[in-house]
Parts: sequence; structure tokens; C-alpha cells
Amino acid sequence: MSINSKKRSERSSCVVATCKHYASKTKEEGFDISFHRFPIKNIEICNMWVHKCRRGDKWNPKTSLIYSKHFTQDSFVRNLKAELLGYTPKVRLLKPDAVPTLHLPPDHSQSITSSSAIN
Ligand SMILES: [Zn+2]
Repeated sequence: MSINSKKRSERSSCVVATCKHYASKTKEEGFDISFHRFPIKNIEICNMWVHKCRRGDKWNPKTSLIYSKHFTQDSFVRNLKAELLGYTPKVRLLKPDAVPTLHLPPDHSQSITSSSAIN
């Protein structure tokens, strides 16, 4: 199975349901941002990402991106070289087990954790 990345969407945007981040817009704001592909090779982690996005419509994780603001700082692999030389790396890597946790739609399942026995 090969992933064909030739077919790019005309605009990059964050896939999180309540999120309105667009690559073009966020660049203008000058933040230290990046967009990250779903870890489709790691099904377990990928499913967690999908769950966090809370999208009600049909969408394809393979072609979707998540904005870096949904990840805590320690979700990223440290670029020691960049830190040493004092520059901000253009490409930031997420740790293999990183999951988005910030600025996400409310998790409704949290209120029913006490009744998990009914499951
Ligand atoms: Zn977002």
C-alpha cells in the first residue's frame, strides 16, 4: 500500500470539529505552528486522534491534518540541534504516541464514566 500525496487539497485546514484553523491564516499570525498528519500506521493512536476530533460528518483521516496547537509542547520530539543553535525548526515532529489534548471539542463521555458498569 502506498500513499499518494500528489493530490493535495487546495487549502490546509485543521480537521478538529470546532476548529477554524487554516494554514494560510495561521501563517499570517506568525505563530510557531505546524500541521500534522494522522498517524495512520499506528491504528490505535490514529483512532484516538479520530475520536478527539469529534467530527460528525464523513471524513478521511488519511488526508486530514491537525493543527499543532492541539498538542502540548512535550508531544513534540525535541530538536536538540535547533535548541542548541537557537532557531525554531521548520518541521516539528510529533512523538509516535502523541495525541491531541488541547483546544478540543468537549468530551461528552467524561460525564458518564461513573456508569461504565452499564457497558
Ligand atoms: Zn485545530
